Amino acid sequence: MREIEDVGALAKTYDLAVSGAGPAGMAAEAAAGLGLSTLALDENAGPGGQIYRAVTSTPVRTRATLGEDYWRGAELAASFGASNGDYARAATVWSVGPGFDAEERENGLEVVVSLGGSAHLVGAKEVVLAMGALERPFPIPGWTLPGVMTAGAAQIALKTSGLDPYALTYHTMSTGLSLSRRLGQSADSGRARPGRLQGGEGHQGQA
Ligand SMILES: Cc1cc2nc3c(=O)[nH]c(=O)nc-3n(C[C@H](O)[C@H](O)[C@H](O)COP(=O)(O)OP(=O)(O)OC[C@H]3O[C@@H](n4cnc5c(N)ncnc54)[C@H](O)[C@@H]3O)c2cc1C
Repeated sequence: MREIEDVGALAKTYDLAVSGAGPAGMAAEAAAGLGLSTLALDENAGPGGQIYRAVTSTPVRTRATLGEDYWRGAELAASFGASNGDYARAATVWSVGPGFDAEERENGLEVVVSLGGSAHLVGAKEVVLAMGALERPFPIPGWTLPGVMTAGAAQIALKTSGLDPYALTYHTMSTGLSLSRRLGQSADSGRARPGRLQGGEGHQGQA
């Protein structure tokens, strides 16, 4: 893997540009092993996406805190790191489309990326969008109170900084349920405690 830290180190064109270095983007980058020139771009500080967020840098040492599923991401990140492709972290893709003129359009698509404070155009014959999904918070009574956060936010604090939020979390998906269990079981601090916010039907708050 060749790490790209500024736009000057980018090639003019690639066979394949991959936007996102979560599990889907890291898998797509395996195309580098087929002899294609590849570029992975991700706005995060490291590969892993949501599920394997910060898997190469998390300060959490007790494996049970994040669960064995999480640590499987370390193998995926290791093979991603060993690939022959280019990778730019902290790189935001903000446009993908046909080239501006006929010559550029012949070369494929044009990917516009912000990296290191500069915006830059990169050509790509093919583009894989592997940008995942976002957590969508919904308003319920009490959701703006201090210390109330979504399950996703609590998970990000745990994975990236080893913080065990001493707070109520609420959720809309299975992630919240599994996180609640993890926080409850956390051997690193064990400070999560049960709680409940009042929500509408199907909008159950949980900690
Ligand atoms: C907060 C949150 C926590 C989750 N936790 C879990 C979990 O613990 N277990 C589980 O099974 N599932 C979890 N999920 C569901 C999760 O989305 C999938 O399991 C899995 O991470 C999807 O993989 P992916 O590669 O498709 O996308 P993601 O893992 O979401 O990766 C997408 C990547 O694209 C990057 N990206 C997005 N937009 C741009 C852009 N414009 N430019 C550059 N890069 C960009 C992001 O930085 C990210 O690294 C979670 C989802 C959310 C929102």
